[in-house]
Amino acid sequence: MNRNQPTIVDFDPQVLLEHAREAQDRAYAPYSHYRVGAALLGRSGRIYTGCNVENAVYPLSTCAERTAVVKAVSEGEREFIALAVVTENGGTPCGSCRQTLREFAEDLIILIGDAAGRHRQTTLRQLLPESFSAADLPSAPPEPSCPAGCP
Ligand SMILES: [Zn+2]
Repeated sequence: MNRNQPTIVDFDPQVLLEHAREAQDRAYAPYSHYRVGAALLGRSGRIYTGCNVENAVYPLSTCAERTAVVKAVSEGEREFIALAVVTENGGTPCGSCRQTLREFAEDLIILIGDAAGRHRQTTLRQLLPESFSAADLPSAPPEPSCPAGCP
């Protein structure tokens, strides 16, 4: 953790859920019609949103949660406090998204909302118990030096 950045421990669940609902409006789901919005709160206090983006080649579709993670990490944020995900029926993040979130947060707070405005709170630890992480990998060898020809 970068000690120069503020640590946000308190947050308003309703604000995070509202960001997720706005992202849900942008979902591109012409095949499943299952619209998902996500909002990921970084330790910096910044919120990264995501929606599901489907593709005619179905396996290329991306979930809302992973869209938010990729946006955040590509913007330089790697520590997260909470995730809100909103669907029509209060569906939970899929297994792929749980594992993607686990890469960056072991104990993420997860808010699961539905179209009626209800939500419940859980954690990534509850959704993905006994998870696999980098700590389970053997020590990696040092990065090889740049092969000849690299700048
Ligand atoms: Zn997913």
